Amino acid sequence: RNYVRKYVEVNYIEGSDDVKWSKRDFPWTKKLEANNKKVFGNHSFRPNQREVINATMSRNDVFVLMPTGGGKSLTYQLPALISPGVTIVISPLVSLIQDQIMHLLQANISAAYLSANMEWTEQQDVLRELCSGHCRYKLLYVTPEKIANDALLRQLENLHARELLDRIVIDEAHCVSQWGHDFRPDYQSLGILKQKFPNIPVLALTATATASVKEDVVQALGLVDCIIFRQSFNRPNLRYSVIPKTKKCVDDIDKFIKDNHNDECGIIYCLSKKDCEKVAETLQEYGHKVAFYHGSMDPDKRAAVQKMWSKDEINIICATVAFGMGINKPDVRFVIHHSLPKSIEGYHQECGRAGRDGQRSSCVLYYSYSDYIRVKHMLSHGLLEQNYNASSGRVLETNTENLLRMVNYCENDVDCRRFLQLIHFGEKFDSFNCKKTCDNCSKAQNLVDKDVTEIAKHLVELVKSVEQQFSSSHILEVYRGSLSQNVKKYEHHTLSLHGAGKSVAKGEALRVLHHLVVEEILIEVVKRSDYYGNVSSILKVNEKKASNLLAGMQTITLRFPCAVKASKSSRNDIATPAKGLTSSKQSPPRVVDTPSQTQPEVDLELYAK
Ligand code: ADP
Ligand code: MG
Ligand code: ZN
Repeated sequence: RNYVRKYVEVNYIEGSDDVKWSKRDFPWTKKLEANNKKVFGNHSFRPNQREVINATMSRNDVFVLMPTGGGKSLTYQLPALISPGVTIVISPLVSLIQDQIMHLLQANISAAYLSANMEWTEQQDVLRELCSGHCRYKLLYVTPEKIANDALLRQLENLHARELLDRIVIDEAHCVSQWGHDFRPDYQSLGILKQKFPNIPVLALTATATASVKEDVVQALGLVDCIIFRQSFNRPNLRYSVIPKTKKCVDDIDKFIKDNHNDECGIIYCLSKKDCEKVAETLQEYGHKVAFYHGSMDPDKRAAVQKMWSKDEINIICATVAFGMGINKPDVRFVIHHSLPKSIEGYHQECGRAGRDGQRSSCVLYYSYSDYIRVKHMLSHGLLEQNYNASSGRVLETNTENLLRMVNYCENDVDCRRFLQLIHFGEKFDSFNCKKTCDNCSKAQNLVDKDVTEIAKHLVELVKSVEQQFSSSHILEVYRGSLSQNVKKYEHHTLSLHGAGKSVAKGEALRVLHHLVVEEILIEVVKRSDYYGNVSSILKVNEKKASNLLAGMQTITLRFPCAVKASKSSRNDIATPAKGLTSSKQSPPRVVDTPSQTQPEVDLELYAK
């Protein structure tokens, strides 16, 4: 990892009391409520909106973690409306900005934007308006690279000198961090704003932030005594499951949709453009109303597809992750992942597009370990489309750690899916509250902890003894004593360990092997890919991490389903996260926690079989 942490100290108010911020006797309260109704047409505030607004209106630096669709925009648009000057909003994507401005103009709020792909004369007009004696703009949106631009900075200084710079908003603030799933280099230079304007309040907003991402954001932006508002990221109305991916995956998807969501609206996320097209084509043959969507399509075509989907003229979109930002369709009933997502954050966000209306919806992930190797290959060769379109700067995504966590999530067939996802956001979810709404919780199985250290050691030694030239499936064959020609060829190397795992079940050995990869004791090195995008890989030993295991100083325990049926109640006290998810940087500071309101209570009736 080429990223060095420069700072250690983090400056935030932990556990700030929300009572203070939810008061209704601030000087601006009346104006706030009136404008919320009159201008935005809202009857009330959603969770944390009032609190965030009061904190930023009180001129504090504020960090807001709120799920997608939670209503973050209002927390700066309303303050902008009732403040005398201009609010600057940094946002990563021009299409998002345009969408926001359209809504603002409809509400008669004057707003403009600056981006690199605008005509120079147009940009000049905006800048001129800014420095005019009576600037009309309440909000000015800019893409992050504009902040490095002298012309804009000079205008901001000018505004500031005239006391007309009200507030600086950083939307999608997780883009600051390399730990996030959507790092944008331009975001890292936004720290200059706090340096130049130390007394101007900054409001940073995001729907995705682990504890470490949050730390990065606070540091990179130079936020001072920052107040953090965080909501539960749990989505009670979504059901999560991971299903083994077979060669008949699309048939399985077809059956799943017909059985559970016939004629309902959904998204199928695919890894590559070719996958999108292939899956869409097959589903069409099976009688679904479906289209594909990816970054290489003509923008008009893409917009047309999205529109057809929004208007229910088609039900299903097969898309890369390029599809999704800013989508606000409330009745998406299923999100299917045809391949492995590249991070848990990304996965959570993609799933989050289902069930915005609070109705029960499904999130199904088709997982195969070979997809891990494929995604890894594509990541390292820059072949993957990113969550945002490329219109506002390149995204660097070098983080295989995020990918390994996703593998770990899929391999885990024991712990609650909600628990596994939310721990990643620094939230400790009590799996008791899942109420069997994920695949793991709804398995009525009993589990046993099993010491697999010996198996693990054998596998590592085996990888070493074949001079690290074998693929994982080959290693397993040798370990379990296969007599195939291919295996026999290397017999002289593997003599002592050939067949050492004869009595070990294949599934068990496989899980141990995958666990070793997730723990980075073994490393999958992607060798090459063929014309069809198939990649092959070989296993190597990470000597540094393997040494403890081989020296007998590390034991490895995995949880397996128990063959014998026993009492039912033993499921709920499982609270240990899967290995690899418990690194210390996950532990969250105590902050304002509010259950999210966009996610109503689980209707237990719905889930009763
Ligand atoms: P986010 O940025 O958190 O993903 P948005 O700010 O785009 O969410 O808001 C999502 C939707 O919720 C928008 O359609 C917005 O109009 C709506 N919304 C926001 N606040 C409220 C509110 N207090 N009452 C009703 N609707 C709201
Ligand atoms: Mg938003
Ligand atoms: Zn669960």
